[in-house]
Amino acid sequence: MRPAKVSDVVGIINKKFPFGLSEEWDNVGLQVGDAASQVERIMVALDPLPEVLDEALDRNCQLLVTHHPLLFKPLRHVTAGTPAGRLLLRAASRGLAVVAMHTNYDIADGGLNDLLAACLGLQDVRPLKVTGRDTLVKLVVFVPESHFEQVRQALFEHVVSVGNYRDCSFAAPGEGSFTPHAGANPSIGTVGQLELVAERRLEVLVSQGHLAQALRTLVTVHPYEEPAFDCYPLLNEGGSWGLGRIGVLAASCRLTDFADCVLERLGCGHVRLVGDPDREVHRVAVCSGSGVSLMQDAVRAGADLLVTGDVKYHEAREAEACGLALLDAGHFATERVMVAEVQQFLQGALAASGYGCEVLAAGGEQDPFRIRYC
Ligand SMILES: [Zn+2]
Repeated sequence: MRPAKVSDVVGIINKKFPFGLSEEWDNVGLQVGDAASQVERIMVALDPLPEVLDEALDRNCQLLVTHHPLLFKPLRHVTAGTPAGRLLLRAASRGLAVVAMHTNYDIADGGLNDLLAACLGLQDVRPLKVTGRDTLVKLVVFVPESHFEQVRQALFEHVVSVGNYRDCSFAAPGEGSFTPHAGANPSIGTVGQLELVAERRLEVLVSQGHLAQALRTLVTVHPYEEPAFDCYPLLNEGGSWGLGRIGVLAASCRLTDFADCVLERLGCGHVRLVGDPDREVHRVAVCSGSGVSLMQDAVRAGADLLVTGDVKYHEAREAEACGLALLDAGHFATERVMVAEVQQFLQGALAASGYGCEVLAAGGEQDPFRIRYC
């Protein structure tokens, strides 16, 4: 096992939950710290609160990964006179790097909304509001026979799956030619002499968003000083991504019974319902955090119910008017489930990449709202 750097962890997060998927108004990625510094312990939390920073420092962590960004609005000063300034100064002075994975994690395939949908037993899940579509690129590389398998295996890291098939590629044998100019440092051949090499033409499909990474890998593993490759933009439709999710329950049930299920599975103390508690629900939309802005998308998609947090009075009235049931499980409860999931993901991904790094879950986070009943 080798030591990880902050940039290695950021790279692992970016590969699974690309930061480029985040909303325009958002601020994600490395927010505090030195990308080149070493990391032995990481803590995952929902919020970058003072007590969370304390916990991370007490537990000897060098990196804190949170869902909500520490830096959100532009700061004019970094002083101890503001809450954000105090947190920044404390993290920076103690060598604690901070990374935010916010709307990129909400949106990404396998991210928070897929997790929430799975928690609530939804099937046939798809994005509730599509915000982007992948553009596919055919990457064609010419590789000498001696290094063919090494290059193909390295590129498999970046190729898109086709349906339920991964590691898809095509290869055909051929002959490459080149004459190295003066100043070249060829791995095969001699300056000024025409060289003919048995090569294979290797073709793979890469998403445009991952093309730069794939080319970096290619240049690293390809034996030539100047690897020969072509990138063809394709008309084939790639995958889509978006906000929220919609799916169906295995069996319809009453709204009130589904609410009991949410209470149990999200471990929240209470939920608020809008709509007839006895109505049947089958098609369910979810959006973690504050997702009531997707109400009309849920209506258009034929949802019986939208599960989210932060619902206000007039939004509840609008849902009533549209015949859409709402279940407000709270911002905290619909998102805190990410902590254990991201901890497990990072621990597994770091170990699989050969990094000796321990990942912890923040223990002390609580919902800021306390409910009192009369
Ligand atoms: Zn949130």
